[in-house]
Amino acid sequence: MLSTEQISQIRKDFPILKEKIYNKNLVYLDNAATTQKPQCVIDEIINFYTHYNSNIHRGVHALSQKATNEYENARCRIQKFINAKHSEEIIFTRGATESINLLAATFGMQNIKENDEIIISHLEHHANIVPWQILCQKKNAKLIVIPVNNNGELLIDEFKKLITNKTKLISLVHVSNSLGTINPIKEIIQIAHSHNIPIIIDAAQSIQHTKIDVQALDCDFLVASGHKFYAPTGIGFLYGKKNLFDNMPPYQTGGDMILTVSFNKTIFNELPYKFEAGTPDIAGAIGLGRAIQYVQDIGFDNIIDYENHLLNYATEQLLQIDGLKIIGTAKHKASVLSFSLRDIHPHDIGTLLDNEGIAVRTGHHCSEPIMHRFDIDATTRASFAFYNTEEEIDRLVKALKNIINLFY
Ligand code: PLP
Repeated sequence: MLSTEQISQIRKDFPILKEKIYNKNLVYLDNAATTQKPQCVIDEIINFYTHYNSNIHRGVHALSQKATNEYENARCRIQKFINAKHSEEIIFTRGATESINLLAATFGMQNIKENDEIIISHLEHHANIVPWQILCQKKNAKLIVIPVNNNGELLIDEFKKLITNKTKLISLVHVSNSLGTINPIKEIIQIAHSHNIPIIIDAAQSIQHTKIDVQALDCDFLVASGHKFYAPTGIGFLYGKKNLFDNMPPYQTGGDMILTVSFNKTIFNELPYKFEAGTPDIAGAIGLGRAIQYVQDIGFDNIIDYENHLLNYATEQLLQIDGLKIIGTAKHKASVLSFSLRDIHPHDIGTLLDNEGIAVRTGHHCSEPIMHRFDIDATTRASFAFYNTEEEIDRLVKALKNIINLFY
């Protein structure tokens, strides 16, 4: 596990952690919404714009070649990081949301027919609900939802019962952004494939907390966002098996996704460019590649162990607070803690914590259905990254106790 000394060194890599909020040291516990960026990622982006800003793929000049190489290196880095078989199985997108929309508009439009069924779960982020809901409306198909138990764990036996010969697609979150539940995706992928059903994994909240090996998992598609992985906003990726991508129609059309165009006919480009129309976020992709390298240099196992330690510590400490209830008590969890505090509204909690320089998220976390499942409208959510410390959790606990004193 990372030592206290290592963590203090790591904290120095993240310039924003030195910020003062209302004259107090920032405690950033909103990592599930977006993570902070290390200086090396910021430098990489500055370096791109300062020294080789240029458009990719089409230029013969030195800057364009350098930009193209760095962009494609970033793709290869993602490929290796998630152990994809081919680099062209990685498509750069704006993030998890765009990746899912791409799949709904291409794979979904092509393969879902009237009366078919798509299975998602009660734990999904809106990004993995709404695109499927709209597709179902267009196709007159049906959205089926895997229920959860009171701990926020998927009911696997119920899931098995929901599969019928009408089930044509499963799209499932790996780690719940609102409860922290880690779903047993390997088992679920095996079940899906035993019925020949393709499966999409939403790894927006897992790529930063768990090791992902798409070949070992054998998922058909996987989506993720760079900004949740210490990289810039506006960049993410879609992984898909090559044979599936090959058979899918393009998503957006225009430059770069074509091989030749005449007014009579257009021939689409090969993978991965077929799905990357227009000028992409070149700096963002390069920044994402650098973020992966940064995490690998620290050691992903070290990060996972330390984040588990933070989760256990925070859970123990928060449970000492009279009237605090953790929402989402799954056996396997990532470092996300949602809670209610007596009958104090989460927005009041969030505002009062902010006064103390503590950033948490309050609300439904873009997953209203799971809030309704627990008969609540909102929670307060503290989510941890490997640059957080026990001292910061102590500050959170102290501030929450002060809030209780203020209200009662
Ligand atoms: N899926 C999950 C589980 C998420 O937590 C999020 C963002 O919070 C998304 C999808 C959407 O990610 P983005 O907004 O980066 O596209």
